[in-house]
Amino acid sequence: MQGSRQRGSGKDPDQRPEISPAFRLTASACVHGPPGLPKGVCYHVGVPPFEPAYLRLLPSGELHARAEAAREHLTACDLCARRCGMNRFEHLGFCRTGPLAWVASFGPHHGEERPLSGRSGSGTVFFSRCNLRCIFCQNHTISQRYAGRTMTAAELAGVFLALQEEGCHNLNLVSPTHVVAAILPALALAAEKGLRLPIVYNTGGYDSPEAIELLDGIVDIYMPDMKYDDAAVSRQLSHAAVYPQANRQTVRAMHRQVGDLVVNSSGLAERGLLVRHLVLPGGLAGTEGVVRFLASEISRGTYLNLMDQYRPAYLARGHPLLKQPLQRQEFQTAAEMARHAGLHRLSGITVP
Ligand code: SF4
Repeated sequence: MQGSRQRGSGKDPDQRPEISPAFRLTASACVHGPPGLPKGVCYHVGVPPFEPAYLRLLPSGELHARAEAAREHLTACDLCARRCGMNRFEHLGFCRTGPLAWVASFGPHHGEERPLSGRSGSGTVFFSRCNLRCIFCQNHTISQRYAGRTMTAAELAGVFLALQEEGCHNLNLVSPTHVVAAILPALALAAEKGLRLPIVYNTGGYDSPEAIELLDGIVDIYMPDMKYDDAAVSRQLSHAAVYPQANRQTVRAMHRQVGDLVVNSSGLAERGLLVRHLVLPGGLAGTEGVVRFLASEISRGTYLNLMDQYRPAYLARGHPLLKQPLQRQEFQTAAEMARHAGLHRLSGITVP
């Protein structure tokens, strides 16, 4: 740690107030500093430094133990709700992924929800392949192919640390469900080397209870999709017959672990649940059932990103309802459903 400066101060550095050592962070540790200002400086005075959940599990060895436990699940894989039961050291299950993660790309992302992107970007790591096969997937060149390359735990830890070094506000693991057993050892290694970004678990929401239990006390921010309310639709569009049931179970477990989304004084998410729901044409996403579930069984304070950006992609052009973009009126109706259910933290929508 070198000097310390008060946030927003234009004074001579030498005239700025001294910050108690308890509140100083290392160069790569302050995840809240404004971009463009010198590294090695914490801009918070009198605010205890953020500590990600997983760091509390490091000294006891629990973080490494979770990584080991996750690896054991690979011999009869139940790491997602599909429960292939496959030995992934010898065969490939539905996700077509062995013990190592394929990384398609990584870098700062400025188009995520505002509490994640902030000013310096969310540190996204896009994993290839997926445990879902949504016929309208916008990222199908990543989710349905082997984009990028496999990485060892040490290489993946290097990616995590590089994103922190770039000044990203968090580590945003995109489509992590099928590669949980590859992520955890990398996270343990990176934590030993100084990683302290909050973890965002950015999932399609078809997770297993076993996987979410492995992540208890490790993930800071859960960001699951809630794609469907109807099993016949999820079977047809994502090859996931039990999606609504498994997805609700997953969201309940996530909320029990982290609660509602907490945003700090800089407007950045630190902990909690952030749900995404893509409104589909023809009411296929079952928005009314999803928002009622969130309001009645999770919390009216659930941070919900109700997404209006549906465009036909991948195989959707052959579907009678999905071959056209979402109509404005359809989104307005969905937004009204969310408001009517009592949800009041709706991203991108002005709530009267
Ligand atoms: S992660 Fe899911 S899809 Fe992949 S092998 Fe395991 S149970 Fe099957």
